[in-house]
Amino acid sequence: MERVDIKVGFYCNNLCKFCVQGRKRDYLPAKDKEEVINSLKEAYDKGKREVVFTGGEPCLHPEFLLLVKAAREIGFEVIQIQTNGRMFAYENFCLKTIQAGANQFSPALHGHNAAIHDFLTEAPGSFKQTAQGVKNLKKLNQYVLTNSVITSKNYRHLPELARLLVDLGVDQFQFAFVHILGTADKNKDWLTPRKTDIMPFVKRGLDIGIKAGKKVTTEAIPFCFMAGYEKHVGETIMPETRIYDAGFVVEDYGAYRRDSGKAKRKECRLCKYDKVCEGPWKEYTELFGWDEFKPVKK
Ligand code: SF4
Repeated sequence: MERVDIKVGFYCNNLCKFCVQGRKRDYLPAKDKEEVINSLKEAYDKGKREVVFTGGEPCLHPEFLLLVKAAREIGFEVIQIQTNGRMFAYENFCLKTIQAGANQFSPALHGHNAAIHDFLTEAPGSFKQTAQGVKNLKKLNQYVLTNSVITSKNYRHLPELARLLVDLGVDQFQFAFVHILGTADKNKDWLTPRKTDIMPFVKRGLDIGIKAGKKVTTEAIPFCFMAGYEKHVGETIMPETRIYDAGFVVEDYGAYRRDSGKAKRKECRLCKYDKVCEGPWKEYTELFGWDEFKPVKK
């Protein structure tokens, strides 16, 4: 199903060390409701039937519930909330969001314990709230798909994180390699692990999810690292997405990723996966070069 992604504002109660949005919260106000509703209507008219509310933290938009309700009234079939998950620690807020029409929740959990997660989010107490949020949403029978950003501080514990996600009952989880933009760019020297180092932990984490019958994916880890796990490369199943950002629209996020965000090396032409692989985020290769990326024999 084609998707629209609407950034409703950049305010957030976390201050993640890997946030690609940087400090946009300091100078970009929350969008007003008319602007968001117009974007929703336009996207619906263009055939989108799935909307993702994101930001910043969308739940903190002053008219969040009204926007969710508007999406439902316009006719969107899937209404997903991409969130740090903290507001869902309040059961009443979960109920109101579900009543307004949301039917998919994508909270972010970046560590298997408070020490790691709260360090990365710079928000004491955030681990406890996000984990409680997932529990509440599952208790209310909601579809929960989590995202976890892979950094130098958490990659060794991805198997424990996967175990926690399975225990919390999530339906799906994704491990996304840190994208060196915004705040992540400022912290890149100590925050960015080598892809070669993370892979044993990524694969053990995926195995835990697979064994438990969960849908598991990765993001920004090309096929040449994913031997045996190729069908979990997330880019291959990402829907066509239009993005309403701050003051501009990305018509086709997939094309943007392939043409400007990601990079390939000339040797990629020899690789079995060249046609389907997007390559890594280009900032990674600017930091570490191309040595790790070895074409897979046809
Ligand atoms: S096309 Fe390039 S980046 Fe992609 S899997 Fe092959 S070698 Fe790796």
